[in-house]
Amino acid sequence: MRDERSMMRTIIVYLFYFCCFSIFLISCAKNESSSGSSSSSDITSTSDNTTTASDKTTSSFAVSEITQTNQGDGYLSGSFVVPSDGISFMLGTFMDNNSAVSFYSLSDPDGTNILSSSSVLYNKASGSGGDYGFANVLVPQTSSFSAKAGTWTFKNYNNDRVKIGLRTGSAPTSTTFTVQPYITGTTWSASDISATLTVMSNIYSTNGITLTIKDTITISESQYAAVSYSFTNSTTSALISQGSTDTVNLFFVEDQPSGETALYGVSGGLPGPMGIASSWNGVLNFLTAHATGTTLNTQLLAETAAHEMGHWLGLFHTTESGGISFDILSDTAECPISRDNDSNGKVLPEECDGYGADNVMFWTAWSPSSQAAGKKQDTLSTEQKYVLKYSPLAK
Ligand SMILES: [Zn+2]
Repeated sequence: MRDERSMMRTIIVYLFYFCCFSIFLISCAKNESSSGSSSSSDITSTSDNTTTASDKTTSSFAVSEITQTNQGDGYLSGSFVVPSDGISFMLGTFMDNNSAVSFYSLSDPDGTNILSSSSVLYNKASGSGGDYGFANVLVPQTSSFSAKAGTWTFKNYNNDRVKIGLRTGSAPTSTTFTVQPYITGTTWSASDISATLTVMSNIYSTNGITLTIKDTITISESQYAAVSYSFTNSTTSALISQGSTDTVNLFFVEDQPSGETALYGVSGGLPGPMGIASSWNGVLNFLTAHATGTTLNTQLLAETAAHEMGHWLGLFHTTESGGISFDILSDTAECPISRDNDSNGKVLPEECDGYGADNVMFWTAWSPSSQAAGKKQDTLSTEQKYVLKYSPLAK
């Protein structure tokens, strides 16, 4: 049996080289620390997910595949048109054998390559640094980019297909996401995560973002009770591929296989393949990691689900574990390694109080004693909220 309290709190960072270009893959796993006990006092009031018609942003979303041309120089190229009412897009490149994929360039209608080495997206967007099986570029992933109207062009390394999920419509004035939860295993059922979903909804609603949460779907096949955090694992792929194509899919899975480094949760991409059925069309939240016995830590599980959903929609960790790498947003608090008081090489929430430890996207959770003292991770910055408001899947 796993000892949750001895699990390493390291961020999983793989650095490797592929072919003639470097790939820097940052996983979006939320790391495990020991889990505390849950408290019913953590559960706040039921959220109001309704909006009036006047609050609704008029927008539509469509996915299409882009025909590519073999340049004869080892690259594939393609183009797409963003119409005058374009809001955002996710451009994704796929390889069915899960080998590495990446874009070489993506140029906007003015001819600016937004993946150039001078761009904040360089080696940050998975479509720049590369990833296995699926990589992408989200526009906007900060407010310094926009889905400019006109013809965009890209050059791509070897791949099986490129798809774009494009949002069009009026400029967004509010933010609503439709969320589809799923649960696996036999220890917990849908009713056991309903309080968690309410807390998660409240985390977003206090930041001005409405979640419309659909009824939880129970997936009872036994092979999905414990699945790997790797989205290229065949069982994980089969599970996530069941995700709906018009929702943010949250998979609450009972556990991980024994022997695998325990995580609270992990996202299928940063962002995920919005609106595209695939192995990455959702996030995993591991229930056992959030339990004491069979009692789920509602607040912690809600924070994990909010965090992984944030990744899936394009938000990076505000501060990575080492205190030397930060997100691409200008207004999120940073916790530098100089605050590593115990010199363990990691900036823990307790060392980053006032330096972003309360942000939904901080790299790891508060310790159990801090949680018991009421510490939470429930804030989002203006820039983070901007990315979510302009998200291709938002309405
Ligand atoms: Zn994370």
